[in-house]
Amino acid sequence: MQESCERTLAPGATRGTRPIPILLYHSVHDEPPDDLLRWSVAPDTFARHLDLLGELGCTAWTMSDLVGSLAAGREPPERLCLVTFDDGYADFAEHALPRLQERAIPSTIYLTTGALGGVPDPVVPRMPIAPMLSLDDVPEVEARGVEIGAHSHSHWQLDAIPARLAREEILRSKQVLEERLGHAVQSFAYPHGYSSATVRDLVVRAGFSSAAAVRNAFSSVADNPFAIARLTVERGTTLATVRDWIAGRGAAVAASGELVRTQLWRWCRRAVTLREHPGRAMTQYVGG
Ligand SMILES: [Zn+2]
Repeated sequence: MQESCERTLAPGATRGTRPIPILLYHSVHDEPPDDLLRWSVAPDTFARHLDLLGELGCTAWTMSDLVGSLAAGREPPERLCLVTFDDGYADFAEHALPRLQERAIPSTIYLTTGALGGVPDPVVPRMPIAPMLSLDDVPEVEARGVEIGAHSHSHWQLDAIPARLAREEILRSKQVLEERLGHAVQSFAYPHGYSSATVRDLVVRAGFSSAAAVRNAFSSVADNPFAIARLTVERGTTLATVRDWIAGRGAAVAASGELVRTQLWRWCRRAVTLREHPGRAMTQYVGG
């Protein structure tokens, strides 16, 4: 299974470096809770970002659109951009989805299932606390052009907890969503963006066809489908930066495989975890 984790989306040395911007949002709100402020953009700002997609001639796809196309060996559009959301805050339905629908822009949202309203086994997730979508909202969100992906059940940093628990987190989130939607959920996103070879293997074995990381770089057809690079849009991200990203400028194109600095950072987090919370992963939220 290791080989499948480390393969690239598609062969092709020449086309592999064309940047594919995959924007990562968390919240769209004028007045989010303080803990979420950094990760929330104002509704008018979000609308401006979406307008830029049209102005710059970008095609928007869901994550499964991208992975399915590349798996079939099809060349993606010249200008492609993906809009993704993590966590499942309630403001997605209130502020983001209407603006996406007005412009007929498909998107992908990765849900932390244990934090959703109406789940049978709720948890206090390791992420900013704010009103969340309800599990009962999920079918309608999907029907309105949004791919539903899983984002674990409790939002632990999966690479910093025992593999047995990581497996439970991955499988539980898939199961909860599939029971509610009545079909397979194909896409996963790592909480906080963190993964490891073991965690990626667990996601493959769970039956997902892709997994999004963060990495703050462009994706490409040469990206690792189980560590897909995304660009985090924060409240402080300027319009000029977002414009550059949508145009395929201003960031690196992620290499396939794991960045060395990511490995070093995981080692550091594990050391802190063991020192401060023996047997537990640290809970600091770093986005994703
Ligand atoms: Zn998250």
